[in-house]
Amino acid sequence: MGDTFSLGRVAGIKIGLNWSVLLLMALIMFSLATSWRSDTISDEATFAMAVAASILFFGSILAHELGHAVQARRDGMGIDGITLWLLGGVARFKGNFPGAGAEFRIAIAGPAVSALLAGVFIGLWALPGMPEVIAQVAGWLGLINLLLLAFNLIPALPLDGGRILRSALWAWRGNMVGATRIAGGLGRGFAYLLMGGGVLLILLVGDLSGLWLVLLGWFLSSAATAETRAITAQSGLEGVTVRDVMVEQPVTASPSETLDRLHGTVVWGPPFTAYPVVDRGVAVGLLPSRCFNEVPQARWPVTAVADCMVPLQDVETFSADSSALDAMFALQGGGLGRGLVVDEHQRIMGLVSVTDIARALRMRQAFVDPIG
Ligand SMILES: [Zn+2]
Repeated sequence: MGDTFSLGRVAGIKIGLNWSVLLLMALIMFSLATSWRSDTISDEATFAMAVAASILFFGSILAHELGHAVQARRDGMGIDGITLWLLGGVARFKGNFPGAGAEFRIAIAGPAVSALLAGVFIGLWALPGMPEVIAQVAGWLGLINLLLLAFNLIPALPLDGGRILRSALWAWRGNMVGATRIAGGLGRGFAYLLMGGGVLLILLVGDLSGLWLVLLGWFLSSAATAETRAITAQSGLEGVTVRDVMVEQPVTASPSETLDRLHGTVVWGPPFTAYPVVDRGVAVGLLPSRCFNEVPQARWPVTAVADCMVPLQDVETFSADSSALDAMFALQGGGLGRGLVVDEHQRIMGLVSVTDIARALRMRQAFVDPIG
């Protein structure tokens, strides 16, 4: 997003502010200060209330986005940052959701923060003896957070409710692409309703706030379309299994052998980026080739593979018959970018990496281009 300035970091997450927020903030401040004017509160106090309320309004949106971002980080996703702009907040992530459960948790975390804030503000508003100045601001913020909660839970992609629906369908049917088509279709339908409602509001009632609905609907519809397209492009992998894309019979290492010895065995072979570690025929871990860089060469003779390998419980494992698309999502979430293919007795069948799958994706797509 252009014309965005940085507000620094919160919990290590980059926060940006688009200049358009300032316009919205000024509008909210002005309309609150006008509507809150009364005989019992001085004009200065009313103005201070409006300023506090509009700052806390954006604080509430930021807290909602931080809810998404913090949960995303717990689920192992990379975070690009959070931007506040004219239509609210956007939390941007790197790559795809690692799984349906993760998407569900990340999607629900934002509304959970809004529900909590609504509870706190409404509690302040209802507290007996609260000065009118504070009660009025708290009541308004409680209402705003409730509205934010309700609107975001509408089951239309890219709203949080749409993500919750998509993750539920994904978990239920095991098909992320189909789930995205349904949630994305509902998202576009809802966006057209908003735009239609906005146009009616302008034409029939003469209310120019309909413009806002048109803008919001247009934004939601293009976001829903973009997301559906991106996922459908990956669906070239549908029907492809891990067996089709894995490296069979990879060079393996034993946990007790030294890095020196392993290097001596593999140095003349084709370069691999990782070596499955096998003990008595059973997979016990994965040795990334970066170990040869991390451990000084002088220490290779005294460093065992087991000292540097990633233990099996931290490595993604797949059966050869599982879907390559699911494997790609699982691998994109982790840091290794590769996983082990094992049979039911944990014996190594192969090694699979994000790049292998990406290559397979291009290969398959090459078959569907018809000649003009
Ligand atoms: Zn949200």
